Amino acid sequence: MENWIDVTMTISPSIMVYKNKEEKKPKFIVRATHEENGHHESSLCLDLHTGTHIDMPKHMIKDGKTSDEFELSSVNGTCFVVDFSKHPSHEVDEAFLKAYEFSPGDMVFIKTKNSFDQQFNYDYDYLNASGAEWLKNQGVKAVGIDALGIERNAPGHPTHHILLGNGIYIIEGLDLSKVDEGRYECLCMPLKIAGVEGLPARILLKPY
Ligand SMILES: [Zn+2]
Repeated sequence: MENWIDVTMTISPSIMVYKNKEEKKPKFIVRATHEENGHHESSLCLDLHTGTHIDMPKHMIKDGKTSDEFELSSVNGTCFVVDFSKHPSHEVDEAFLKAYEFSPGDMVFIKTKNSFDQQFNYDYDYLNASGAEWLKNQGVKAVGIDALGIERNAPGHPTHHILLGNGIYIIEGLDLSKVDEGRYECLCMPLKIAGVEGLPARILLKPY
């Protein structure tokens, strides 16, 4: 995979999880070992919002679409990475995003200081409602961020609603630490799971 940059978090027992909640940590269970069974087999109990994943509308909207109606074309194609990592604020807003020109159908990934956190940071950078509204009006088809939540302690979850309510998929948990600002080709392959509100995904970027 020459020239492709893997922007996926590694799933392990110690992966960073949202607000360090115990129930969100993946559970690896060894079912058989070479010593006892002659082969090795294990199970994984995984919250669907672990690490790098896509939120389906159903996550925030009661009758919203699930993974059954998800199409790969919604999260593959050209992607513009914007660099917010040196910005003094924690809030990605319309004023910041306005400096860029996106085309309808683009995906936008927001690189922030979060990509360099080794532990869950309660003061993580996030996308506010004005930023979400502006991206929606540009006609982007998906928005990604290197946070485990695209918004932070926002009553009513306006950022999720503005995006998911308008058919714009949200990708959370990206690792953009090795990616510079610019245009990329995005390859995103989520797991194929029926009827759920979130899909863990493997995501790679290649300079465009
Ligand atoms: Zn999620």
